[in-house]
Amino acid sequence: MVVPYKHEPFTDFSVEENRKAMEEAIAQVESDLGKEYPLIIGGERIMTDDKIEVVNPANRKEVIGYVSKTNRNLAEKAHNIADETFEWWRKTDASFRADILFRAAAIVRRRKHEFTAHLIKEGGKPWKEADADTAEAIDFMEFYARQMLRIDGGVEINSRPIENNRFNYIPLGVGVVISPWNFLFAIMCGTTVASMVSGNTVLLKPASVTPIIAYKMMEVLEEAGMPAGVINYVPGSGKEVGDYLVDHPRTRFISFTGSREVGTRIFERAAKVQDGQKWLKRTIIEMGGKDTIVVDNESDLELAADAITYSAFGFSGQKCSACSRVVAHEDVYDELLERVVEKTKNEVKYGDPTDHGSYMGPVIDQGAYDKILGYISKGKEEGRLVHGGKGDNSKGWFIEPTIFADVDPEAVIMQEEIFGPVVAFTKAKSFDEAIEIANNTEYGLTGAVITNNRQHLEQAREDFHVGNLYFNRGCTAAIVGYHPFGGFNMSGTDSKAGGPDYLLHHMQPKTTSEML
Ligand code: GLU
Repeated sequence: MVVPYKHEPFTDFSVEENRKAMEEAIAQVESDLGKEYPLIIGGERIMTDDKIEVVNPANRKEVIGYVSKTNRNLAEKAHNIADETFEWWRKTDASFRADILFRAAAIVRRRKHEFTAHLIKEGGKPWKEADADTAEAIDFMEFYARQMLRIDGGVEINSRPIENNRFNYIPLGVGVVISPWNFLFAIMCGTTVASMVSGNTVLLKPASVTPIIAYKMMEVLEEAGMPAGVINYVPGSGKEVGDYLVDHPRTRFISFTGSREVGTRIFERAAKVQDGQKWLKRTIIEMGGKDTIVVDNESDLELAADAITYSAFGFSGQKCSACSRVVAHEDVYDELLERVVEKTKNEVKYGDPTDHGSYMGPVIDQGAYDKILGYISKGKEEGRLVHGGKGDNSKGWFIEPTIFADVDPEAVIMQEEIFGPVVAFTKAKSFDEAIEIANNTEYGLTGAVITNNRQHLEQAREDFHVGNLYFNRGCTAAIVGYHPFGGFNMSGTDSKAGGPDYLLHHMQPKTTSEML
């Protein structure tokens, strides 16, 4: 019998022993940098000449490793193997598949700091964020394994005396998983293992800036007993490999997390029925957010300032859940703004994430750096810059935590996802107006309301249209199994990662009826 699910606790780095262990793990990872990594297709390691150079975003001269690049021929080979493997993998017991994840979770838990140290280097994550990313990867494995065991029995339906009816979920086929760089371990792992534990085979194309953690996960899954061919590791460019796999007539579903631009493109391509294709492809797509914290006049402003600061600047705002808009009641607007600016000045130290003291590290690459600075200069036209605003890419891609005040709700920086450490404030005359402003984007991922007014909470529960709505806390840091995560509208296809029905998106229900 499996023990009930509980989320993986975070490491307390104020304890010296934990800090020491982390420092040792970082030193260990540093001594291991610069290796070459092969593809994994049907269990076979294939080293290609063409490689992705993966660098540390806090210090771009530091190469984390060189990762082989899949070309179309290799993508085709991987697809064939995934297709063949599906024929027997789909018939394996749910408990066989779940047990691989239980063991894999245990392996990661035992080597937790090593993974966290790697995320600090490859993803530019501060300690706390990297530790949470590793914990969430463990959670996804533990949670989806249990969910699969629960689904396995099927769902009760009616039978009659002369017939025996059953309703069971079966897997779909070959899935293409295209994962993001921001939760380079957690989301990559969650989307991959959800596909695999529900009986599908997988082509895993991790984000090109952070592919090494996915290789490390492959090693763990293999050690835990995952057979060859079930998950195939095929990093490469979106244009060359991503499109090819998405378009492939034998692809049954695509699980993507990333930008709105790429997500909508995948959605369109997946809709096209290719020659020889026998099904309509399923898509599970998680895209961006333009997430708002609403602060009411009757509220705890210290709590609000804490919630805003962490939600806006945790991991440099590079979360689709990040708070990039604050809508504050006019009665508290000035005081709240002042508190957030003070807090940011005093607490949000930014610098190399290998230093325990860094609250914020770099942004992921030059493209992100340029894009965010572009929004900051737009913000200077659209609002009043009250903190930050500068970047420094002499060593890594660093951008100051940046706060704009008095921004019109329709302004570009209030509407478009920035994916960086930038938050804009706007004023509302009433709670009604605040909710109206909060809903005025094309996204609908997360949001938070800070108020002591119970009626306003109930009003928000009905009218604030986001997939993850939080009361009297920030709008990031969803926990697997506790806060199933996913958004409405242009934020995605309405699935909830870490939720009770997530695996069903990777499966199809089958009815069997026997006359007795
Ligand atoms: N699940 C994460 C959170 O709640 C965000 C995921 C993402 O950025 O894609 O903060």
